[in-house]
Amino acid sequence: MTSQAATQVDRYARSAAAFAGAKAVMPGGVNSPVRAYQAVGREPVTVRCGKGAVVTDIDGNEYIDYVLSYGPLILGHAEESVLAAISKAAGRGASFGMPTEAETQLAQAVVDAVPSVEVVRFVNSGTEAVMSAIRLARGATNRPKIVKCTGCYHGHSDSLLVQAGSGATTLGVPSSPGVPESITSNTLLIPYNDLDAVREVFQGHRNQIACLVVEPVAGNMGCIPPAPGVGPNGQGYLHGLRELCDQFDVLLIFDEVMTGFRVAFGGAQSLYGITPDLTCLGKIIGGGLPCAAYGGREDLMRQISPDGPIYQAGTLSGNPLAMAAGLATLQALQEDGVYEQLESTSARLEAGLRDAANAANVPIYLTRVGSMLGLFFSETPITHYEQALTCNTDRFAAFFNSMLDNGIILAPAQYEAWFVSTAHDEAAIEKTIKASEVAFTAASKVK
Ligand code: PMP
Repeated sequence: MTSQAATQVDRYARSAAAFAGAKAVMPGGVNSPVRAYQAVGREPVTVRCGKGAVVTDIDGNEYIDYVLSYGPLILGHAEESVLAAISKAAGRGASFGMPTEAETQLAQAVVDAVPSVEVVRFVNSGTEAVMSAIRLARGATNRPKIVKCTGCYHGHSDSLLVQAGSGATTLGVPSSPGVPESITSNTLLIPYNDLDAVREVFQGHRNQIACLVVEPVAGNMGCIPPAPGVGPNGQGYLHGLRELCDQFDVLLIFDEVMTGFRVAFGGAQSLYGITPDLTCLGKIIGGGLPCAAYGGREDLMRQISPDGPIYQAGTLSGNPLAMAAGLATLQALQEDGVYEQLESTSARLEAGLRDAANAANVPIYLTRVGSMLGLFFSETPITHYEQALTCNTDRFAAFFNSMLDNGIILAPAQYEAWFVSTAHDEAAIEKTIKASEVAFTAASKVK
């Protein structure tokens, strides 16, 4: 072993030992697959703590963090007002299974923030939020079929765990053993950013489709913004979806688990000026604690039990700690200048990454909507999943590994978005850009 390699091994020695122990008792050593780092050919670091924009691993290495728990931590780690709210709530008891005032306070904050949401129900994860919204759409319309875009991720519930097929309107094939085809055969797939495909699938299944569910800014095949300029009046993809859903009487569900409170306080729907029928929220809404929600038109939401017959429940739903963390986070986000700061920090990061890639002569396609970014190792623009799959993932792995070794932690796959928090200051961004110069050079050596 060279001395440099030995140093790298020493640098991660405790993480390596911890991960060996983890693998013995948990599948892949993790509780969510991407955390195992398989896409980048190494083992993960094990985290000890986080503060602000920085996480520290159990070997004592510090990293500027663009994972941010895959999106929730828009204020950074262990933010003071969120911490205070959680500890105050914890002191009063962790869970009751009875109404608390905090639930109404967060519900009111969500209704005030998200334009289309009139009534909201809290759940514990994004998966649950989308699964429940789909049940509501099916129950309210009495129709079985749903439409989703290839490459959009809506959690791991059976109906939605369907990946790309070829062609415009492929019938759903399950992405995982254990998901019956009898369920996914009701899931119709279309490519993202393609309105003709929507029209075709709607025409082919008239009066059978309950809803179309979409990430208004795709964030699970990298970050892919909705196409501008397309659709009937050139108003863009999301406007086009709204029009087609109205025309064919299909409910439009925005999965804003990632984009809610992220791309704008009111989510993508406020940024792009679209009113979906139902909206799913998660991540930021719980300030880092397990919390998600679905909400929307009152006439639909009143069909949820116990107001209506469509059943959905949860022992820990509306958990007081999660409500407190969510409320503190939303309050902090409403202070003057927060989104302007996120925008300028993220714009500086975007520009710096672009310059660094140019200098290293590495073709990239870089996207950004507010504080959400996507870095694709691609010579051509990426507007949907099949294109995303053509990216050079080996180059990404080289880039990722160099960044990690130089104190910058990214989600370990090209198909994850980067997130910036209010705790990322100028120094953190400049350090990231410096590290990227080395990392792009490393990537440039990979074919
Ligand atoms: N929808 C979207 C858009 C997501 O990004 C995610 C998670 N990344 C989910 C749903 C599922 O959320 P959870 O992991 O909390 O179940």
